[in-house]
Amino acid sequence: MEDIRFLLDLISVRTECTTKEGYEEAASLIKEKLSDMGLSVEIYDGEEVVKDGKPRPNVVAKLDLKADKTILLNAHYDVVPAGKGWSKDPFKPVIEENVVYGRGASDDKSGITAIIWAINELGEKAKRNVILAFTCDEEVGGRAGLGYLMREVGIRADEALIVDGGFDAIYVGASGIVAGKIGVKGVQGHAGYPHLAKNPIYPLAKAIVKLEEYTRLREKKLSKLKSPPGSPHPYVWGRFSITVLRAGEKSNVIPGEAEATFDLRLIPEEDVDEAIEDLKNYLTEVSSEIGWKVELLKYEGGGNYYTEITHPFVVGFSKAVERVIGKRLEYAAELGGNDGRYTKEKNIPTLVFGPIARDSRFHGVDEFVRIKDVRMVKEVILRYLKEEAI
Ligand SMILES: [Zn+2]
Repeated sequence: MEDIRFLLDLISVRTECTTKEGYEEAASLIKEKLSDMGLSVEIYDGEEVVKDGKPRPNVVAKLDLKADKTILLNAHYDVVPAGKGWSKDPFKPVIEENVVYGRGASDDKSGITAIIWAINELGEKAKRNVILAFTCDEEVGGRAGLGYLMREVGIRADEALIVDGGFDAIYVGASGIVAGKIGVKGVQGHAGYPHLAKNPIYPLAKAIVKLEEYTRLREKKLSKLKSPPGSPHPYVWGRFSITVLRAGEKSNVIPGEAEATFDLRLIPEEDVDEAIEDLKNYLTEVSSEIGWKVELLKYEGGGNYYTEITHPFVVGFSKAVERVIGKRLEYAAELGGNDGRYTKEKNIPTLVFGPIARDSRFHGVDEFVRIKDVRMVKEVILRYLKEEAI
């Protein structure tokens, strides 16, 4: 139960990605455990990329086992805020019937626990050297976390396992996001004198109706990679949603501009610039149909990636999974994004696998993890490190 004791201690440290208050405490708890295991540990503070004065400690330890290749094992210690409506205290974890309840129980403190205990049981010999990286800020994009380690500190490995996901498939890729704004410009004026103004709200509304059709066009963009089990399409598909509308401030003023914010989800193999070009062309068509200029005001995004399923890392890891759970899992890509973007950005083959069950209410109320799942993931990591690939 020492592993679960550690998980409980880690959950008790409030590491909400919004306030970042418990970051240093969590990092030193992890550092202490790794030091007790005889590892030398470095802390890299990613604060310098965000410059807000709040420490972003990332805990790194290296294990040289005289192997030819090195694997990076990563999990994140930040959590999303608890929110309201819990039946238990989210930061006073409890165990009930072999299930641990608490914020971060599954996402992703169970991942940290599984990695540490695998290393704890590894012994002197393995087929991979190991770099452990326990990072912050994954829930807010990871720039000061794994992003910092890969881009600024320059950590490198031959393969990367991001232990921040489920075990219903082996995740070899992720959808990225493009977020942006679409706008229509009019002429601001007194609502009593509408003939002297040009109201941009009506054309924006028309454009939005057309953009609902665009959602269906995006749906036709299909990945060669499978969707997570339970998805409405068998393969990962392009998505487009209007998520925020903004226009006007006062009832008697016709606004000068109207804006809609969108969230466009890429498929793992899609080129961001091409996706943007496609959207721009669509907006040009919409503009001529409705007789108003509908502009793409700004956008940013990316983070989609995939690793070829024929890569020896994918094949070898998949065998380790099969040996532990007794069946072959399919390869799939996640519908969201994850920190694997930063390792893949440096051309490191990347996989995501972890103890987060589909029903574990991660990001929700009464989040939990099953103890057996934490130990299964530990076993998979151990098995992969111990046995020859392929
Ligand atoms: Zn996570």
